[in-house]
Amino acid sequence: MSGVIPFDQRDGVIWHDGKLVPWKDAKTHVLTHGLHYGSCVFEGQRIYGGTIYKLKEHTDRLFMSAETLGMKMPFSKEAINQACIDVCKAQGIADGYVRPVVFRGSEMMAVSAQHSTIHVAVAAWPWPSYFSPAEKLKGIRLDFAKWKRPSADTEPVHAKAAGLYMICTLSKHEAEAKGYADALMLDYRGYIAEATGANVFFVQDGVLHTPIPDCFLNGLTRQSVIAIAKSRQIKVVERHIKPEEMTGFSECFLTGSAAEVTPVSEIGPYRFKPGALTEMLMTAYADEVRGVVPVTA
Ligand code: PMP
Repeated sequence: MSGVIPFDQRDGVIWHDGKLVPWKDAKTHVLTHGLHYGSCVFEGQRIYGGTIYKLKEHTDRLFMSAETLGMKMPFSKEAINQACIDVCKAQGIADGYVRPVVFRGSEMMAVSAQHSTIHVAVAAWPWPSYFSPAEKLKGIRLDFAKWKRPSADTEPVHAKAAGLYMICTLSKHEAEAKGYADALMLDYRGYIAEATGANVFFVQDGVLHTPIPDCFLNGLTRQSVIAIAKSRQIKVVERHIKPEEMTGFSECFLTGSAAEVTPVSEIGPYRFKPGALTEMLMTAYADEVRGVVPVTA
């Protein structure tokens, strides 16, 4: 993409294994276990007006993901929270994105890496949330992915692990090549799962329907949106959803820390019209992340 500075060539600092180092020096060796064997987990959270939304929850999930992959975190949760805050401060970022990453180092280069060191880095970059409801409400177009989310006994599906993103990148590339913004992934049973980096919701007769996150990430944004909806007496049904049921859904949107609440207009042959409920949840989520207390609950 033209105009985008490559991520290894930016200015400033990155928190790397306990200290802030110059951005361009935050390096790892090519013979790194995390790179070869996927022993790598990460997070992605946004900072709004100088406060990282759900920082504690993201750090908790980072630790859960690391533990799931058998990686013992060499820092406390408090240290990671502080690292996230420190990089944002050092970079002068009040509205942006924070990316903690944990991976096995280079001591062993085989499937087994029992004695490898665990490394942690946190980087942050500006990513203002351009909240223009009118533009966003047009909705994005999704293709169907050909890759399926695996079962919980096939992969550690609840960890935010780098290895699980292989099929996401493949699906997103295939969708983009056909002119779509993203792809909807079904699960190993054929039920609707999620998009490549965000959860999915549908609206039917004023009720929200969303898949049960039993083989994919139960996103923190998903949980926020469910809580917001319930606080406003909107019924939320978490259930297994078959793709053909989309004929009966009027609205659809994605949720994620990066995606926030993103309306969807099209999934394969199915059409949606972003409407009142999606718009209300977009606004309510935008208020929530900025700590705006709703006037009417
Ligand atoms: N699913 C996947 C595959 C994701 O990458 C993300 C983004 N982290 C989500 C769902 C949404 O999670 P969250 O709302 O916690 O960002």
